[in-house]
Parts: sequence; structure tokens; C-alpha cells
Amino acid sequence: CGIVGYIGNRQSQSILLEGLKKLEYRGYDSAGIAVFTDQGLEITKTVGRLANLEGRLTSEPLRGTVGIGHTRWATHGKPSDVNSHPHTDNSLKFSVVHNGIIENYLELKEELMHQGHRFVSETDTEVISHLIAGLYEGDIVKAVQKAVRKMRGAFALGVLTEHEPDRLVAVRYASPLIIGIGNGEKFIASDIPAILEHTRDIYILNDGEMAVLTRDGVELMTIEGNFISKDVFHVDWDL
Ligand code: GLU
Repeated sequence: CGIVGYIGNRQSQSILLEGLKKLEYRGYDSAGIAVFTDQGLEITKTVGRLANLEGRLTSEPLRGTVGIGHTRWATHGKPSDVNSHPHTDNSLKFSVVHNGIIENYLELKEELMHQGHRFVSETDTEVISHLIAGLYEGDIVKAVQKAVRKMRGAFALGVLTEHEPDRLVAVRYASPLIIGIGNGEKFIASDIPAILEHTRDIYILNDGEMAVLTRDGVELMTIEGNFISKDVFHVDWDL
């Protein structure tokens, strides 16, 4: 029920964890993060309190400067380690966090299983990571756009792929998502408090809009792929 993402030059793990704590008020039953480490895209996730996740990450930290994090409020599939986000595909090279519901996930799942995709969770979200992986032809932005066009429902997404470790893709459709603009670092979050200690300059995505974040910039576009521009919203209040 909460999303945080980071791309920059600092260690991402604590930024993601602190951000998720600020989103605890939204409610959740499990939590997880994915980080680009020297070993590739690595995921740590667990059912239960954020303190459980934090405990695991304290003994086995994920070191890297790009990552996404999630607190889950289960809608499809019981709260469990394997149903927690981030989700991945069979190549383990794509990672997705999702808030919302994919209404047509069963038909998409069936189609993907026919194509040979093997699923490990009971969630609607796992369909998204497999869809993106299946549609990937060298450009993560195009793959996400194609995947999103097949999906019905509500979704805020954060997407990473090991093939393009210097990009973080964010999508909003009927679930909230904002972009934080820092100096040499960028953020995504479900809500402003998650990133307010790092930046006060925000883009607020509208339904049907997406963003491609690099350390040095943010490209804004519609899900159809038309580039758009937006005013920066400056947050002038404190928590
Ligand atoms: N529908 C997804 C799931 O059950 C996401 C739920 C959420 O928004 O946290 O895993």
C-alpha cells in the first residue's frame, strides 16, 4: 500500500526503509525492497512488520544506490513472504512494486503461462513483472508502456531492470504517485512525507502519466508515450 524508490549516489537501503516507515499510516501486512547490488538485482521481502524487514537487512544489507521498496496491503493472495513485493520474472532481471489491483490478471496470467512463464505467487502483481519481461526488446520504457496497455484496474508502479541499471520507471493510474527531484538523485513515493527529508521539489503525476528517472533528470510522458512538461510543486510545509 506504499511505494518508495531511489536513484542517486547514496546507499538506497536506509532511504527506502525510512521512506516506508513514513508510509506506515496507510496500513500494510508485509514489506520488501529490491536493490541493484554488485550481484545484480537483489530482493529482500517478508510478511509482517517493517521491523522484521529491517532486522533482516541489518544482518544482510543490500548495498547499492538504486532501489525500490513496498509495503503491501494484500488484495490478491494471502499475506506471505512469497506474495510480498517486489515481484520479479523468471529471468530475475526485472523487479516491480505495485499499489492497486489488476482486474484482468487471471486472463493475463493464463496467456503468460501458455507462453511458458512460471509463476511463484498468488498475486495480481506478479503478472506485471512477467508481462514487462516478455515484452522487453531493449527499452524498458517501451516495454512498460506496452504492458500497461494490456492491464485494466488501478496501479502505481515502480519498475527496475538489470538490463538498464541507470533508470527507474514510474507509472500512475488511479493510485497515487509522486516524483521527488533532488540534486543528483531522484525519488518516487506514494506520498510526500516519504521523501520530504530529502527534497521539497515534487512532480505530482496524474492518471495515465509516467516518469523515467535517472540520477540527473526526469522525463515525463503519458502512458501512450507523448512527452509532457509539468510545473515543479514546492512543498512549503513540515511534517
Ligand atoms: N494487489 C497487490 C497485491 O495484493 C498490491 C496491493 C497493494 O496495493 O499493496 O499484492
